[in-house]
Amino acid sequence: MRIIEDDMNDEVIIDDIRINGFILDDRCSKCNNLLIINEDYDAYFCAYCNEWVEDTCGDLDCMFCKDRPKKPSAGLIIHSDLGSQYTSKAFTDFCRSSKIKQSMIKAGCPYDNAPRSSFYGKLKNEHLNHYNAKISNFK
Ligand SMILES: [Zn+2]
Ligand SMILES: [Zn+2]
Repeated sequence: MRIIEDDMNDEVIIDDIRINGFILDDRCSKCNNLLIINEDYDAYFCAYCNEWVEDTCGDLDCMFCKDRPKKPSAGLIIHSDLGSQYTSKAFTDFCRSSKIKQSMIKAGCPYDNAPRSSFYGKLKNEHLNHYNAKISNFK
């Protein structure tokens, strides 16, 4: 895991995902790594344990707690090819603001991430082109 503090933007970059916040001097009681505060939810967390250190306040109208996810990092990864729709600014901004991590094949490496690309290819055939893929193809 790579954690970088971006003081200029008041952001912390955790494995390419940016959050509004900063790294604290306090340490996690479980793994002893430095805690991070996520200012969107006004709460401390440990990135290594992927756990919030504080409970939500219990106030249903609280602007910080009501949208707080169960885990600090939702961990959603979206894998795609290098199509212009996936590399466009609109899409990368969307992923960034939604805390979705983008995964893409390297240019010129068609076998990079072949299992996932193959899975998506079959899914596309099934749902868009209405071909029947055998379930055994996925095993
Ligand atoms: Zn920890
Ligand atoms: Zn709250």
